Amino acid sequence: MRAFILEHASPAEQNPLHEADLPIPRPGPGQVRVKVHACGLCHTDLHTVEGDLPPHKRPVVPGHQIVGFIDALGANVTSHKEGDRVGIAWLYSTCGVCEFCRRGLENLCPSAQFTGYDLDGGYAEYTVVPADFCYPIPPVFSDENAAPLLCAGIIGYRSYRLAGVRPAENLGLYGFGASAHLVIQLARHQKSNVFVFTRSESHRALARELGAVWTSRAEDTPPEPLHAAIIFAPAGSLVPQALRVLRKAGTLALAGITMSEIPALDYALLYHEKTVRSVANSTRQDAREFLQLAAEVPLQTEVQVFDLGQANHALRALKNSEIRGAGVLRVSRG
Ligand SMILES: [Zn+2]
Ligand SMILES: [Zn+2]
Repeated sequence: MRAFILEHASPAEQNPLHEADLPIPRPGPGQVRVKVHACGLCHTDLHTVEGDLPPHKRPVVPGHQIVGFIDALGANVTSHKEGDRVGIAWLYSTCGVCEFCRRGLENLCPSAQFTGYDLDGGYAEYTVVPADFCYPIPPVFSDENAAPLLCAGIIGYRSYRLAGVRPAENLGLYGFGASAHLVIQLARHQKSNVFVFTRSESHRALARELGAVWTSRAEDTPPEPLHAAIIFAPAGSLVPQALRVLRKAGTLALAGITMSEIPALDYALLYHEKTVRSVANSTRQDAREFLQLAAEVPLQTEVQVFDLGQANHALRALKNSEIRGAGVLRVSRG
């Protein structure tokens, strides 16, 4: 099968992925094989190929926002059948028995494995996954439009949930890429007012189209303080900026898997019972809840589609914030 693999991490400008012809994987017991139609691009893919994340598997096929059709079942799989359309997300497997798994926090399982990082992912024509870790895709979404829901969407949903904003309250979003453009729609659907902070004029324009009440740059002060905020950009310098405009008892959620150093904070910025929390991965329950909600809204995903052969180019575009909405690789059809 055709696949794009990473052998050695290097900057996206140096075309770190190579095209390879790999054997079609076979599903083991409890697994399903998926013929990949589309795979979303995520900043974590960029962190993987550029070596910001320690290598777990080499070579590895990146990609963890996979939409495709089940074409083979491993032994003992009864929950799915051939031909089912499913999505695969970042969480590939968990142990099911540790204290975090038992507490409903499987996203923190120390034995968790991740798609396109510990195991081969979706920049390839086929992939395999445990049957319990793939999700039905609501028919309202095309393959390409569903792909960004599977990481950007699910992580955005968990961040939004943990930020705890309520109807008629003010939510700030810092950075307006793939996650934020979905969160704003959830928040508008639930009648929150959304304030968007981003350097990119095109991202501000998209935010206004999607119902932001106010858009500006991070250093600017919104007309009203915020009840909650989510930082999607990996810039620690945004933390004091966001705390500055957060109301008493507000929550600031940090959605990134990495972030540059957070500057020293004046305690006054945090006082009055403000909460800063990170968001790490997501659970299967997040995925199922979010996909259902996404279909209910229904979320409009703004996608820019690239062919699988353009994987390196697409990652560079992602790095340079040149993608409007979310980037998606079209892998195969039919
Ligand atoms: Zn991701
Ligand atoms: Zn566990």
